[in-house]
Amino acid sequence: MNQVDYLRISLIDRCNFRCLYCMPEGTELQYILQQNLLTDQELITLIQDVFIPLGFTRFRLTGGEPLLRPGVVELVEKIAHFPQTQDISMTTNGFLLAPIAQSLYDAGLTRINISLDSLDPDIFEQIIGNHGRKRWQQVWLGLQTAYDAGFDPLKLNVVVIPGVNDHEILDLAALTIDKNWHVRFIEFMPIGNGDLFGDRGWVSSAELRDRIRQRWGLTESQVRGNGPADVFQIPGAKGTVGFISQMSECFCDRCNRVRLSADGWLRPCLLNELGQIDLKSALRDGVSTLELQEQVRNLLTFKSEINFKQRDSGTVGTYTRTMSQIGG
Ligand code: SAM
Ligand code: SF4
Repeated sequence: MNQVDYLRISLIDRCNFRCLYCMPEGTELQYILQQNLLTDQELITLIQDVFIPLGFTRFRLTGGEPLLRPGVVELVEKIAHFPQTQDISMTTNGFLLAPIAQSLYDAGLTRINISLDSLDPDIFEQIIGNHGRKRWQQVWLGLQTAYDAGFDPLKLNVVVIPGVNDHEILDLAALTIDKNWHVRFIEFMPIGNGDLFGDRGWVSSAELRDRIRQRWGLTESQVRGNGPADVFQIPGAKGTVGFISQMSECFCDRCNRVRLSADGWLRPCLLNELGQIDLKSALRDGVSTLELQEQVRNLLTFKSEINFKQRDSGTVGTYTRTMSQIGG
């Protein structure tokens, strides 16, 4: 198995969007109570005294929407300050990004992924749940501001939804031609909202790749991230296009991450709660960080072989939490 050195940290389970593949309007979600959120100090203690001693060097802040967490810049600064930290990144919907992008960069955030599923403001509003507010422009401004602040390359996440935004694939891929932007197409995962698209299913990476290849050609990129994406380049483009294919391919053997929820549960996998640890309660009960290291080491042994295909064949139970609850 891969060395597991990458921790995805959910800062908050709430969100200012209601994306139809994540937490669509009408879904009943039980939010974490304020007193049950890990505090900044608890989070820092866990990183410094549990994860770093176990060899973790890469941290991603996510959610819910991480920019809704008060004090997020200070938190970035503290995590970036550890000499062992090689990478501290964030996944955000970008809505609150513009005014804070430079501070995040200056605080030491190394990379940022912004979710942008459409270049058409109307379709975008439809995807994120329209409340009569126009939010695409603000996200676009956030993206430009982040790039100008120094987040170069900039990564864009696109969840491809059949019949909604799959006709925009070429336009989204074209963003990589003139700018060092990395566009990542993500196959929709039936997490929490498995029946959402019913018979429409999901669009495979292979199909998307073929469409882009037919338009411009596609070469394997020299830029290979640490993540699960297969990365390609439109010939002559400054950026790259990547495909995250967890539905059509299984990359569990390449997985190098575990996930910490906003209320302090450490989970070995999106689909696997086996061996999960309630680190927040343990800390509050006075369990020593040395003992917690031992428990986390034990959890890492559960990180194997559970994958989407096994779930589909009924070998493991369907995961009922949404991405916003797990920390996507
Ligand atoms: N709110 C932030 C955002 O949207 O970027 C961070 C959290 S969000 C859960 C992290 C990523 O998970 C986003 O890129 C989102 O598009 C993706 N995501 C959420 N639900 C998904 C699903 N069912 N299938 C595939 N990707 C999903
Ligand atoms: Fe919010 Fe991100 Fe989920 Fe969309 S994908 S609802 S922005 S947490």
